Amino acid sequence: FFLDSVRGMKDIQLFGYVKQRLDEIQQRSQKIDTAFERIKDQEAKVRVYTEVAVSAFNIIMLFTGLILFSLDKIDFSAFLIGVILLMSSYGPVIALSNLSSNLLQTLASGERVLSLLAEEPELKDVESAVDLKEVSRIDVENVSFAYGEEQILSDVSLSVKKGEILGIHGRSGSGKSTLLKLLMRFYDTDSGEIDVSGHPITEITRDSLRASYGMVLQETWLKHATIRENIAMGKPEATKEEIIEAAKASHAHGFIKRLPEGYDSILGEDGGSLSQGQKQLLCIARVMLCLPPMLILDEATSSIDTRTELKIQNAFAKMMEGRTSFIVAHRLSTIQEADVILVMKDGDIIEAGSHDELMKADGFYTQLYNSQFDEEEE
Ligand code: ATP
Ligand code: MG
Repeated sequence: FFLDSVRGMKDIQLFGYVKQRLDEIQQRSQKIDTAFERIKDQEAKVRVYTEVAVSAFNIIMLFTGLILFSLDKIDFSAFLIGVILLMSSYGPVIALSNLSSNLLQTLASGERVLSLLAEEPELKDVESAVDLKEVSRIDVENVSFAYGEEQILSDVSLSVKKGEILGIHGRSGSGKSTLLKLLMRFYDTDSGEIDVSGHPITEITRDSLRASYGMVLQETWLKHATIRENIAMGKPEATKEEIIEAAKASHAHGFIKRLPEGYDSILGEDGGSLSQGQKQLLCIARVMLCLPPMLILDEATSSIDTRTELKIQNAFAKMMEGRTSFIVAHRLSTIQEADVILVMKDGDIIEAGSHDELMKADGFYTQLYNSQFDEEEE
């Protein structure tokens, strides 16, 4: 469960689920805490009891020895041997009690891990932060970003108006996902600025910013719960009908229906035995259910077969109407309809424009397009 929470941190944060999850974590760690307390108590008691018992036993033995000796029933050497035996029996008893204190230390380190998990995962918003009420436009100005030493994005600028679709294409490792993560403010930029509706992103509360995004990411994340709960993650109050409708729109309904428990099937950690494509369909259903004003689809259909993908395209198109969308795709046909297509290479935007403009420019995009087109023809 804890692992699950750490892994799915991004999705959790996005669906405004943080509070709920933190409460859950707190509850569980509280339970574990009380268990620790009990073990500690018991351990202390056991230690006192053994010590008392051992000492009492020793004293009794010593007295018996003394009495026997004084009554001349045993000689001095026998008495001495008895004392030595008693003394040497002390060692193992001490070892036993050390063993239990080792156990205690192990438990204590478990406790430290838990307190680490319960800590605030992120920085606080600045005092002056405002809630994002409406999303009109997004401007990225001269943004650079590095994970530590490695420069990932250099001097990236773009702007998207409300209702526009921005397609992003580029080789693996060119920084596409990183750019999206900056938009959602999982990281702060090193230089340059990102504005949403005219507010610098650093002046917007994280909760309201993330509530404005619906996303299907490359790494799907499902929690250990029923399918129903997984779909309703961003909208816990959704009715059964709404959930089924979202699942139908994302073409997940078919495979869910075939599961023995249907919507009440409990998923294992990270989706359990579902296929990668089925997991993606569930994540799409999730977004279809809550429909925030901005959408981020990072290779959202990469593991879905082409026929199902085609069917979902229509639902996607409907979903994107009036919303500001960012779509990352390797398959160019997925982003062909976008208002602006960015072609990224090593953290730079090397070409930008609509499909027609880019084709006219006869550059990198045109080459890519022709080569992919040839592949599909074959
Ligand atoms: P793909 O098409 O494979 O999804 P991408 O364009 O989305 O690739 P990014 O995920 O943005 O690529 O990664 C860009 C570079 O940043 C890569 O070289 C990657 O190794 C590095 N990188 C990504 N995430 C991290 C991270 N959390 N810490 C350090 N380096 C990272
Ligand atoms: Mg990526």
